[in-house]
Amino acid sequence: MNRNLNIVVLGGGESGLGAAKLAQKLGHSVFLSDRSSLSAENRQALIESNIDFEEGQHSEDRILGADLIIKSPGIPEKTPLIQKIRTAQIELISEIEFAARHCQGTIIAITGTNGKTTVTSMVHHLLETAGKNVALVGNIGTSFAGSIAEGDHDYYALEVSSFQLDDIIHFKPHIAILTNITPDHLDRYNNSLDEYAAAKLRISKNQDEKDHFIYCVDDALTNKYLQDYPLRAQQWQLSLEQSVDNGAQINSDGILQIIINQQLDMDINELALQGKHNTYNSMASGVAGRLLNIRKEAIRESLASFESIEHRLESVLQIYGIEFINDSKATNVNSTWYALESMQKPTIWIAGGVDKGNDYSQLAKLVGEKVKALICLGTDNSKLHAAFEGLAPMVIDAADMDEAVRMAYKMGDKGDAVLLSPACASFDLFENYEDRGRQFKNAVRQL
Ligand code: ADP
Repeated sequence: MNRNLNIVVLGGGESGLGAAKLAQKLGHSVFLSDRSSLSAENRQALIESNIDFEEGQHSEDRILGADLIIKSPGIPEKTPLIQKIRTAQIELISEIEFAARHCQGTIIAITGTNGKTTVTSMVHHLLETAGKNVALVGNIGTSFAGSIAEGDHDYYALEVSSFQLDDIIHFKPHIAILTNITPDHLDRYNNSLDEYAAAKLRISKNQDEKDHFIYCVDDALTNKYLQDYPLRAQQWQLSLEQSVDNGAQINSDGILQIIINQQLDMDINELALQGKHNTYNSMASGVAGRLLNIRKEAIRESLASFESIEHRLESVLQIYGIEFINDSKATNVNSTWYALESMQKPTIWIAGGVDKGNDYSQLAKLVGEKVKALICLGTDNSKLHAAFEGLAPMVIDAADMDEAVRMAYKMGDKGDAVLLSPACASFDLFENYEDRGRQFKNAVRQL
């Protein structure tokens, strides 16, 4: 793109701001438009960067006069403005598409319903441990475009949501990791699992034979949707249940084996993060590391030293032998399944919130085995009661986080765990999952 273009950026969150900064750095004329008000911090950043912007409205005339429009992932396709842009046939791309067009480094892109942030952070940690010049970008914090505007890196560990994949054209990661596919965010995809899965698989759409696609072969929906997908990249499989030809598996002695050219073996007890889901996550990053020719020692060291991320099975405190664990990021049933599955102690489980059409039946067995009490923390707990009364010895309601934590503490015995893993979104009682997790931690610290 050599010509000076009129670029419009829609949305002034982290990714919009990053796209605007990159467009400006490349010498284009930039106008950012956000229908809502901007955060004080982003407004200030735009003013300081001398980027033209509006907030609280979209000036359609100006937007429809653009040569190229970069859309933030939060804006749904159905929005009337987006429809008008489509009709006007103006090129409309996502922020990651724009960033990738100007990226010189190697992209390792991670998508999936659950585990994206964990795997992205692990890949980043692995490359850092190996002494590489790597940036941690995407959904996880700094936007991809914003990072490129600041300066080049050799590698990009990039977390991508399905929304960001909706508007890619040429985006082509050297390594794509698909953690899993379970129903989530279906409202954005006409309530169609097919459409949601198609968005996730788009991560590999432009990959060719020199690229790599890593996926979990134990995941039923991934297998189902891959069947009809014309994958051109080299495939690497992860499994805890079967042996694989290429990728990672666990042998009968509990040794994680990464099979790419020379084999790398590692005892799963040495992995820093425990639980089945984290074993998949460690496998995914280990395979990516091998594909990037990282030394085996650096891979082992990084998988053994990775520190858990806030709000993801984060061990907060032990009080009189009761361990409090914050898994506030578990906003769907599948992630809570993995949290309960990983519990080694009798568990007092705090759950509930905004239910996205949850089917709790898949948790029944684990709840029967591991949960000694369920504390429901939502404005409407009727579905939780219906699903778990009779399975958990006790199912009770709490009005707020403080009460939930105090109840849990009272019920707990030495050797128990108190697990906040809501299986629901947080918007009824909290601002977001971070707020929910922080309130949990504060309540625990006040005990
Ligand atoms: P994402 O970024 O995709 O939302 P995170 O890494 O933040 O995923 O993890 C969110 C929650 O999902 C965690 O709290 C954990 O309980 C669960 N989880 C993490 N990795 C996996 C996985 N590979 N499979 C299933 N669930 C997982």
